[in-house]
Amino acid sequence: MIRKLSYLLLGALFIGFFIVNLSSFSEGQSQETGLTPVLNEIIQQVKKEDLEKHLRILTGADPFTLNGVEYRITSRNTFHPDIQLAVEYIVNSLESSGYSVEKTPLSFDYAVKKVAFENLTAQITGDLYPDEFYILVANYDSCAGLEKNYDPLTDPTPGADDGATGITVVLALAKIFKNYHFNYSIEFLFTGGHEQGLWGGRYYAMDAVETGKKIKGAIYSQRLGPEPKAKRSKLKIIYNNHGKWSVFDPSPLARTFLEVNGDLTFGIKPILIFSPQQIAADFIAFWEWGIPAVVVGDFSNSNYHTFKDKPENIDFDFLTEATRIIGAAAAYLAEVGK
Ligand SMILES: [Zn+2]
Repeated sequence: MIRKLSYLLLGALFIGFFIVNLSSFSEGQSQETGLTPVLNEIIQQVKKEDLEKHLRILTGADPFTLNGVEYRITSRNTFHPDIQLAVEYIVNSLESSGYSVEKTPLSFDYAVKKVAFENLTAQITGDLYPDEFYILVANYDSCAGLEKNYDPLTDPTPGADDGATGITVVLALAKIFKNYHFNYSIEFLFTGGHEQGLWGGRYYAMDAVETGKKIKGAIYSQRLGPEPKAKRSKLKIIYNNHGKWSVFDPSPLARTFLEVNGDLTFGIKPILIFSPQQIAADFIAFWEWGIPAVVVGDFSNSNYHTFKDKPENIDFDFLTEATRIIGAAAAYLAEVGK
């Protein structure tokens, strides 16, 4: 209880966050690992054009073709019919990369009705530890709740930064990882119902605990698109006090981002941020159920939750470097190519 109280006090003092900047584990400290050449090879395959293509389709800026028919995703709001197109686009992208996709039908109560949605998963089975998973997560829905008189059923809701950037990162890494072997299993998870109460993440985490699924760590990609003029250079890796981790002792999952940054060269730098309080993202669901998780994001785009959250307001150079860091950390954790 006292410990809990001290975290609350910390939270109040630092408005929820605490930027970790201790020299003992700052960037560049780690020895080069045996994995460095393969991690380098992986990050070289992350291409800005590929990310831009996914993001423009997911936000309706460009159409996509499925079975000879052209579609445009004008919204990924949970209540908008086009969200089904977004689901089909994600499924199709994963299938084109060689995966079979599992759709988990779920629902939540909203006002007086039941709202149906799906979580989507695809897997790479680990060679040595097939039953132990690292999870790469993004939520696929969007919202423009800051607009006056917003109608989620009909209004276009591009949701570029929030959260097409996250979907794009996970789709791009799924494609690259498919050509590699890993010691641990990797699951790519796309959650729905996020904007109405993190439903996809909550169901997933609850089910994992109930079925005894061993999750070594979840990396949640969220809001990775600052504005082009913002010239951001830091990628935030947020962890919390689940277990024994604190501002002075970041979780191994969070530390990995600094370690890979020591071995490899990126255009932006990861910084660890300790969050003693819960903030609004799917990883709360993971923390609530005792699953190690970090959220990776930038969170600075001022078009968040408005109609202006569009591809032209995204810094794709930042998104590319962020995807490389997340890819390197995930491949390192899951022990690629060993
Ligand atoms: Zn949102």
